[in-house]
Amino acid sequence: MQKGHEITRGKTKVLHELVGQPDVLIVSQLDTISARDGERTDTIEGKGRIAAKTTARVFRLLNLCGVPTHYLSGGEDDDDNQMLVRRAQMVPLEVVVRGVAAGSLVKRKPGIARGAVLSPRLIEFFLKDDANHDPLIEADAIVARGIATPQEVATMTELARIVFEILAHAWRRRDTLLVDLKIEFGRLASGEGKGSLVVADVIDNDSWRIWPQGREDLMLDKQIYRNLETVTAGDLLALRDTYEKVAETVGTFPQMRAGMVAILADGAQHAALTSETARAIGQFGLASVRHVVSVERTPGFLLQLLAQIEVTFPRLVLVGIGEPGSAIFGVLDHLSPNPVVRVYAGAPALETAAFAVAKALAMDDTVVFGRVLLLQTNVKSAILQADAHLNATPVGPAVG
Ligand code: C5P
Repeated sequence: MQKGHEITRGKTKVLHELVGQPDVLIVSQLDTISARDGERTDTIEGKGRIAAKTTARVFRLLNLCGVPTHYLSGGEDDDDNQMLVRRAQMVPLEVVVRGVAAGSLVKRKPGIARGAVLSPRLIEFFLKDDANHDPLIEADAIVARGIATPQEVATMTELARIVFEILAHAWRRRDTLLVDLKIEFGRLASGEGKGSLVVADVIDNDSWRIWPQGREDLMLDKQIYRNLETVTAGDLLALRDTYEKVAETVGTFPQMRAGMVAILADGAQHAALTSETARAIGQFGLASVRHVVSVERTPGFLLQLLAQIEVTFPRLVLVGIGEPGSAIFGVLDHLSPNPVVRVYAGAPALETAAFAVAKALAMDDTVVFGRVLLLQTNVKSAILQADAHLNATPVGPAVG
């Protein structure tokens, strides 16, 4: 990999071209930490490398979930502060998602108690404008100024919410509260999906507030630095350790937990339905095993098979397929401690079944959780599009 020209340099990162690949850039994060509008700046040796690890791991998680991002590869190894990303034209906005009131929100709105849970999540846009201290900007002003179209504002809002929920889920599993988060978007400069919005820039320990056990006093993020009265060498060393610890934790985010879905059809006539069910579940990237059984004719085989599956796969969801009156559902419900999803032959509702399976596994798997969120959003937008299409089609006058 050969670094080409430097494209741009910010306070905390530098972008280079990749020789021979005009659509790809190399992002390297710097050892700088700054606060109070740049009034306070320090160097923490190794911070850039740690930030690259955090960013790369967050982006890899988002990619696995199906969230569009600019991230391609790199940045994750200890000695490799070189992240490859798709070239994008940045939208000059910071998109902040808040799940709990803190920071500038409680300063701006003293009526909102610090630490209050925000439901729904609050999404705010800030214009990137150093001279004016990145002011808050409303959606209509973003459109009026030609910064983004109404559709793009809607897409950024929805994607920001999804990114927050995915990272909140990942942190929650580590008993840590994601308080708020800042992300940025870009429009892909070329290639597949040219012009479409992707999550871009970096997402590292400077981009969020995280409170272990929901306790602000245990915070692990950049707020520690912002809060320091004076900055000593010891403070900076302690910060580096904290940032390293966060990067290590984030390193465990992009891992799918090995779950299995066992699809059991009561009767050979439902064999084809097992394949269709496996395909619907496959949308979430979940693996499945399929079997045909007969509760009435080979009950011993069913019991033996069930016992075998349960000892083989510790994270298991069962899908029973049968006629509505089949005994397979009751047998699975009463014999297995694992979740059971029912598919009725004749009215199989496979999308519903696939969602139920994925949601059961999503409880402790952030990748599956993110995929559920994405698919829900796609289904929702397909409905909204169909409605818009229906209402855009002129209805002819009634004949009569
Ligand atoms: O300061 P404020 O409460 O508006 O910050 C909201 C979130 O956005 C925090 O997680 C903060 O770390 C992040 N942020 C950021 N870069 C900025 C401003 C805020 O990453 N320039």
